[in-house]
Amino acid sequence: MSSDADGTNTFTPSGLIPELPNAERKLETMARLTASVRLYVVVSPDVPIEISVERAKNVLEAAGIEIVVMEESLLEDVPETLRVPRVGNCSGELTHDQQRLFGLNDRKSNRDVAVYFVRATIPFVDGCAVHPDEHPGCIIASRATEWTLAHELGHVLGVAVHTDEPGRLMVSSTRQLGPPPPLPTLSSDEVSTMRRSMHVQPAVQ
Ligand SMILES: [Zn+2]
Repeated sequence: MSSDADGTNTFTPSGLIPELPNAERKLETMARLTASVRLYVVVSPDVPIEISVERAKNVLEAAGIEIVVMEESLLEDVPETLRVPRVGNCSGELTHDQQRLFGLNDRKSNRDVAVYFVRATIPFVDGCAVHPDEHPGCIIASRATEWTLAHELGHVLGVAVHTDEPGRLMVSSTRQLGPPPPLPTLSSDEVSTMRRSMHVQPAVQ
């Protein structure tokens, strides 16, 4: 899954993992990984997609994970109910709407992460990362913040719990995070969880 043993394609994180003492941080090298995402636009979000993608790329860089956008497609003719899908309490149980939304596209690979940009959700949330096992992905509402995409990708890549530590990407609401700098941070546990995800793969050299 990860190719940490392969020292030929490594990089040193730029100090975004505050838990590591300096000496250890210097020694820490990580094989570069990539996560492929496919962006499906049902309704254009308030924050331009390229800004959200840029933020996600910048934050996940600290985990040695490069976000690669494989596709950005406008989904037309999506039924009105799926433009404002029900997401329930967004904690494990899928709604009928989520099942239908994630099933809209023929996936070439169930390793790729699909992101659906919708108008809103019922109830109102900025994003929700609960998805069918065979269709990894998340839903982003048009009112989402510039950090919502990065945060939901963190969930899709396996980070299940929120933190109440200020300035961290996985805070319970990304509305607590302002514009950069600084970038929201990741803990070393979050980094290793994401790097073990089945949705990341060794970077092609
Ligand atoms: Zn969350």
